[in-house]
Amino acid sequence: MWSADEVAGLCYTHYSTKLPKQGKPDPNREWTLLAAVVKVESAPEREACLNVGNLQVTKEVVAMGTGTKCIGHTRMRKTGDILNDSHAEVIAKRSFQRYLVHQLWLAASHQQGSIFSPGTEIGKWKLKPHITFIFFCSHTPCGDASIIPMTKPEDQPCELVSRKDPTRHSADCSGNHDPVGPENKRKTEETASDYVTKRMKTVISDSTCEVTERIAAQYVPGNQQNIQDTNTSRSEFITDGQREILTCAKETGLIGAKVMDVYRTGAKCVLGERDDARRPGVEYHHVGLLRVKPGRGDRTCSMSCSDKLARWNVLGCQGALLMHFLQHPVYFSAVVVGKCPYSQEVMRRAVIERCQHISFLPDGFHVQEVKMLQSNLQFKHSRHAIQTGHANGKAKLVPCGAAISWSAVPEQPLDVTSNGFKQGTTKKGIGSHQTRSRICKVELFHVFQRLVASMSQENLPESLRFVSSSMDEDLKVKFETE
Ligand SMILES: [Zn+2]
Repeated sequence: MWSADEVAGLCYTHYSTKLPKQGKPDPNREWTLLAAVVKVESAPEREACLNVGNLQVTKEVVAMGTGTKCIGHTRMRKTGDILNDSHAEVIAKRSFQRYLVHQLWLAASHQQGSIFSPGTEIGKWKLKPHITFIFFCSHTPCGDASIIPMTKPEDQPCELVSRKDPTRHSADCSGNHDPVGPENKRKTEETASDYVTKRMKTVISDSTCEVTERIAAQYVPGNQQNIQDTNTSRSEFITDGQREILTCAKETGLIGAKVMDVYRTGAKCVLGERDDARRPGVEYHHVGLLRVKPGRGDRTCSMSCSDKLARWNVLGCQGALLMHFLQHPVYFSAVVVGKCPYSQEVMRRAVIERCQHISFLPDGFHVQEVKMLQSNLQFKHSRHAIQTGHANGKAKLVPCGAAISWSAVPEQPLDVTSNGFKQGTTKKGIGSHQTRSRICKVELFHVFQRLVASMSQENLPESLRFVSSSMDEDLKVKFETE
């Protein structure tokens, strides 16, 4: 029905042809990340029967986002008029919510072409059965999915690496994997993708783990754990961190390969939880943990994109407000990642397996078996593409500060922001209506309220009937006229 390359190609073409120059990186010195939601619609069964062997499938980008930044917690606002998290994945998901609101409005006002059809309860809608959504991102999401075992160059998931020039390797492959160290503290507001991992330049021999099937683990408590090599009766000592990476490498099919190091993420473990060991080499990170995005000396409250994808994979990506109108959550059926360091198993761990124990979910919710695929096509404004485009490959590159949001909606589909506000916002302008992004919390709340206001009481879902009837008249007028 579709391939990963087809999805990536569609998104790259959309980026090139439908997004303005404003907000895109200056390819002489900047790079960015891209994410999108692609609607896949197969012809309804009746039509499919008439076209046997020629199943009609349409693919269409319905939401897109670019961006690399995230604000620290001191800049967050109770008014909800700033974008806290402008990583491309989050911009794309919020743009998708705008699209969903529009589609619900089409359905509720009995117009043609909505993706929704009436559900079994009053005021509730469900996705038409032949429609699915694929989530695309040009890089492996920051956080847990980015902690990928790094083996010898020939074992790398992406070819890019010259052993003679490990610096080049990190530049090529580091993607959204940034070092977390004092030397880079200044830069940490920039996205995970922003860094060339200095620590990755050297492979520290004492932390290099040889992963072989001969290792069978019999752990004893303590900092150092005793591993019995069952084949040779030789004992080795490994630490918790090494054990995690060994398990991870084993699951990743790297048995027999030398795990030299791991790709790193700048996302920090959430407060109050276990922290990274930060030992050299493979023991730098602990895997499977919840993480927050880095901030410039100011901790952020935004979870890593891996964690958010995991959340959407259980709760859907529609959010709590739209859930009032939906019979079932809206899940992504697949995640496609562009060409970059990638591990299928690590993605599975980060997005699916960490949530598999969750039970007692409300009706309609489940841990989705989302498909994971990687494309072989590289995003032209990715860090790696921009870097290799420079003759000497040594140009100083920075992540683009702007974020572009695009939604398949008729009114003002585009929205370009930087630092969480419309691009060009001055300090004085902050707080005014004109400086808000269309996808910030308060604006998405307003489109939701307009949707509620457009419906008559008897057509509203039960959960909204009281809210709507008690809505302050002034507020109602405001939303109808705004
Ligand atoms: Zn991210």
